[in-house]
Amino acid sequence: MNIFALSDVNLLKKALACKCPKCQKGDLFRGPYSLELKDRCEECGFDISKNDSADGPAVLLIFVLGALFVPLAIIFENLFAPPLWVHAVLWGALSLICTIGSLKPLKTYVIGLQYKHRASDWGE
Ligand SMILES: [Zn+2]
Repeated sequence: MNIFALSDVNLLKKALACKCPKCQKGDLFRGPYSLELKDRCEECGFDISKNDSADGPAVLLIFVLGALFVPLAIIFENLFAPPLWVHAVLWGALSLICTIGSLKPLKTYVIGLQYKHRASDWGE
C-alpha cells in the first residue's frame, strides 16, 4: 500500500460529513449519536455492511491522541505544576471529547479509503 494514499485530503474533507463513500449523499450511520453503521445507503443502495474498518479508526485515534496529549500533559505539568486532580479532569475530559468527536469522521475516512483503494472488496 502506498503510504501517501493514507493522506488523501479530499477524502478527509468528505469524511467530515459522514456520508456514503459512493454517492456522498446518504448517511453512513444509523443516527446522529450512533456509531453503528447502516447496512445499506438509503440514497444509492450501496452495501455498507461489506466494510472492513474493524478497530482501525479506534487504534488510529489511540496513536494520534496519545502522541498529542502525553507531551501536552508533560509541558502543562512543567509550566503550571497543577494538582493531580486537575490533570485527571483536564486530560480525561479532553480525551473523551476528542475521541467521541472524531471517531465517526475517522471511521468514515477509513471506509472511504477502503472503497477508493480496494473497490473489489465491495464488488465494484
Ligand atoms: Zn450512497
